[in-house]
Amino acid sequence: MIYDSPWPQVELPLCSVWDKVWSNPTNAPDDKPAVIDGPTGRKLTRAELRDSAQRLGHGFRNAAGLSEGDVVCLFSPNSLYYHMTVFATQCAGCVFSGANAAYTPAELAHQLQDSSAKLLLVHPSILQVALDATKTLGWFAEEQQRRIVLAVRDDEAGPARAKQKTLDWLLSSTAMQPVSITEHKSRVAYLGYSSGTSGKAKGVRTSHYNMTSVLSILAPLKTYDNDVQLAVLPLNHIYGLTKLVHWPVLWGNPVVVMPKFDIRSLCTYIERYRVTFLMLVPPIALHLARDPVVDQFDVSSLRLIISGAAPLGPEMENELAKRLPKATVIQAFGLTESSPTTHVAISPKRGSIGPLLPMMRGRIVDPTTGKDVAPGAEGEMLLAGPNVMLGYLNRPEANKETLVTDEHGTIWLRTGDIARVDEDGFFYILDRLKELIKVKGFQVPPAELEATLLECPLVADCAVIGVWNEQQQTEFPRAYIVLSEQGKKQSDAAQAIQDWMKGKVAPFKQLKGGIKLVDSVPKSPSGKLLRRVLRDEAKREMEEA
Ligand code: AMP
Repeated sequence: MIYDSPWPQVELPLCSVWDKVWSNPTNAPDDKPAVIDGPTGRKLTRAELRDSAQRLGHGFRNAAGLSEGDVVCLFSPNSLYYHMTVFATQCAGCVFSGANAAYTPAELAHQLQDSSAKLLLVHPSILQVALDATKTLGWFAEEQQRRIVLAVRDDEAGPARAKQKTLDWLLSSTAMQPVSITEHKSRVAYLGYSSGTSGKAKGVRTSHYNMTSVLSILAPLKTYDNDVQLAVLPLNHIYGLTKLVHWPVLWGNPVVVMPKFDIRSLCTYIERYRVTFLMLVPPIALHLARDPVVDQFDVSSLRLIISGAAPLGPEMENELAKRLPKATVIQAFGLTESSPTTHVAISPKRGSIGPLLPMMRGRIVDPTTGKDVAPGAEGEMLLAGPNVMLGYLNRPEANKETLVTDEHGTIWLRTGDIARVDEDGFFYILDRLKELIKVKGFQVPPAELEATLLECPLVADCAVIGVWNEQQQTEFPRAYIVLSEQGKKQSDAAQAIQDWMKGKVAPFKQLKGGIKLVDSVPKSPSGKLLRRVLRDEAKREMEEA
């Protein structure tokens, strides 16, 4: 059975992202703040943001010598300049690829190489990671000078300014006219990174049409003139990129950016800037629901809280709604591969991600046969709609597995999530079929951790799964490890492996779910890892505990 959206259809624009975002449907005045830096209160008005994006776009094309279609990678925590960089990339007809600010040199190098990024904009606090990453890619001194630019102004660069140019070098006095784009459906605008249903992080080709469509189908999510959003989620991830970079600018509302989450700063900014609309992930919802710090602040301006990116249990949803009775607390669902949002529970039903957004269609199938299950039964969720990606970059096999074309020519995205639909068309996510682990909303592909662990001389074989941590409302990666001969001689091998991992992968990918030393890891006769067996075992353990 094919499920449709209960919402009326919406018109899908055929224009570039730039034209959609700056169409100003609410007639927001030019001098209204667009981006506010939470810690310092520095602001960019709408006019300043648009003008600086056009001047930066000019710099991309001229000073940096980029051509249309070239990839610009931004490696930075959330900052006052994030929006400017994204829109400058659009203005110049280039492709935006945001990298997670917690990445190690190897992780950044993978994204730079895979995306063939031509220009790397980097925050001064993580410049060394960028220099180490690009060195491994063979960008030696001259190229590092030319292709790495600090993503701040001269006066904010500190000692790093002596080493690299800053945005001031790129900010031309001439504002470029935004590149006119006619192939909206096929022209890539973003390359986010996602492991999808298996393997390592892959470049997700998100088109102009994907982005303008998702902004349009989110229409049931009303905004108001006095709305103020808070960007606590990382803006490099598609969740932050759509809802906290494009959405507020489209609707003419200010967004307060915070570089790093801590509950006190979050509450400080909600109070100081009268934030009305908050998008978060379950571990932040947990803090808001339970942390005593929240009582020290006036957070009564909040009218809407949306949790996404990972499961939020109905109890936690209830707890948060009770603590903040003036705010509506709801869930949304999406994937990088669907740019991302496909469901929003606009009228909340606890534990549900809601019905499909306009123009979206869904199916629930038996994952082995691919056939639709009976209405109400659980199965893998497939989604079709204008926001489904063009495909992974240079990964024909993964594309074949993930994007399935039916007999009517409809392309269905296999989500790798197990869901069911109730009689009102509300979807519930029950489990994850795919290998992906989500740590506080961040993707952690087990295949990547396994490949890294196999480089450790103490490890002969391994398997990584996600285990649920109730206290922190998130999964954490746990490794099952078969020790090598050297590993067997090592005292406290598990700790030695944990220490070894510290330099290898980002903090959010560390094995906080623990290490279990085992004699073997379960494999099929053809040698394929059977992570499912370990996941079931871990679940049983949790239930018994
Ligand atoms: P990403 O591509 O990083 O956005 O990850 C997408 C995956 O996150 C989905 O396929 C789900 O497994 C998970 N996810 C996103 N939103 C939710 C939600 N509201 N509830 C449960 N899982 C979610």
